[in-house]
Amino acid sequence: MAVSTGPCPNCGSNIEFKAGSSLSLVCKYCKHVVVRTDRDMRNMGKIADVVFGDAALAPGDRGTFRGRAFSVEGRLVLQHPAGGNWEEYYVVFGGQNAWISEAQGFWQIVNEVPIPAPPLHTLAPQMQVPLGNYGIFVVGEKNDGTFLAAEGELPFAAAPGTKRIFVDLSAAGGGWASIDYNDGTQPPKVYVGVRTTFAELQITERGGDRPAAAVKTEAIKCGGCGAPLPVLAPGSERAACKHCNTITDVKLQQVVARQGQARQQPSIELGRRGVIPVADGRGIYNQEWTVLGYVERSTGAPGSDDWFGWQEYLLYNVQHGYRWLVFDEGNFYLITPLAAGDVDASRAPLFVRMRNLHFRKRNQQQARVDFVLGEFYWKVEVGETVWAEDFEHGREIISCEKTQTEVNWSHGVLVPVQMVTQAFGYMPKASAYGAPAFNVSPASGASSGLVVAIIVIVVLVFGMAACGACFGDGSGSGSSTSGGVRGVGGSSSGGFGGK
Ligand SMILES: [Zn+2]
Ligand SMILES: [Zn+2]
Repeated sequence: MAVSTGPCPNCGSNIEFKAGSSLSLVCKYCKHVVVRTDRDMRNMGKIADVVFGDAALAPGDRGTFRGRAFSVEGRLVLQHPAGGNWEEYYVVFGGQNAWISEAQGFWQIVNEVPIPAPPLHTLAPQMQVPLGNYGIFVVGEKNDGTFLAAEGELPFAAAPGTKRIFVDLSAAGGGWASIDYNDGTQPPKVYVGVRTTFAELQITERGGDRPAAAVKTEAIKCGGCGAPLPVLAPGSERAACKHCNTITDVKLQQVVARQGQARQQPSIELGRRGVIPVADGRGIYNQEWTVLGYVERSTGAPGSDDWFGWQEYLLYNVQHGYRWLVFDEGNFYLITPLAAGDVDASRAPLFVRMRNLHFRKRNQQQARVDFVLGEFYWKVEVGETVWAEDFEHGREIISCEKTQTEVNWSHGVLVPVQMVTQAFGYMPKASAYGAPAFNVSPASGASSGLVVAIIVIVVLVFGMAACGACFGDGSGSGSSTSGGVRGVGGSSSGGFGGK
């Protein structure tokens, strides 16, 4: 079966290349990347000691996708500059190199295609790019990832720790493409394919080892006050303590920032699970979501007439990834990420179109993160800003958030307040400015005044008690335009494979 064999240049164990298109592999025994050349095998260095988080596929698996057989030859882990790792699988379809990747419940599969790549410097988020006969694609992200670790075989030869530049694109109708610019020294490669679901990748043979306890989560200790800090999702990067507001890096278990007091505190308890009956932007409904995080955001200068604030709750489901529940001007919206190619933005910011619907401009603004609690899948920073544009059509909204490196589109649908109350025990809380958000359902209207009064007292008392533990000096970090709140952060896909 092996196309070439030989001793590992590091440990001497016998290693075998099985796929003809593979250029390197990771020695099972010493975890060094070994590259094969015409003459010998060369050691590229040891992979980082990271745990593979995704147990869905493993090298050695076989399956079919839309009637075509494939084998999984390898997998790799990359680190996103905004924090977080993502994983990609190197697969072979009848001798052709392809990549399968997953970003927060959304799957992509791309094949290498023989078309020239546009020069990297000509590309920017939201730009339209023709890719040969495959049509027009929209740039969603232009970024780089650090090659941390791998398993099995790979179609390129790179040393662990090197950076890979990628551009991800999408098209209407489910198209997906990725251009791999490697480290900028080799010719780029273009990969074109589709967005899909894990169910469509029909696995017929499970060959490889998969990481045990892939969704193991734990409670870490708050770096600020020592209280337990629950971590409910495996991809969480940062967690902000509800007792002292300190933000801790989950992996390093170190304090990364202190923040001041909340404007309002969450009106839904973090960690709460609930079922949302309304279909989201992907048609998913009646699923159970866990409330992971709470964000207070605003636009305009604080204290000025154009200041406006709102709240967002980060939701998580192990199969479907992340959603947001946004409370804005008395309404809740369930927000689902979209691909840039899903939205026809050729007439933005006047209007955008999706599924033959016309969404007219609602507002556009610089949106800032003011306060966070709970856990987040990216390196959230108080003070980070994005340019945001919102469009509306009846009960639906489309939003676009842009940074230097990516554009993130999302779809929102109105969820009745009463439904959020039923699902998550939503109970409006008093704001720090003294204006409670009155959005309780009419049925509980009689007692709501008393409830709000009690909450005001609880918030005041708790707020004073918490002050002793907090460090009360506002944001621990400066303004930043990296990342992006609704972004896919550390899990966006960079199709990958140049040598
Ligand atoms: Zn070895
Ligand atoms: Zn704390």
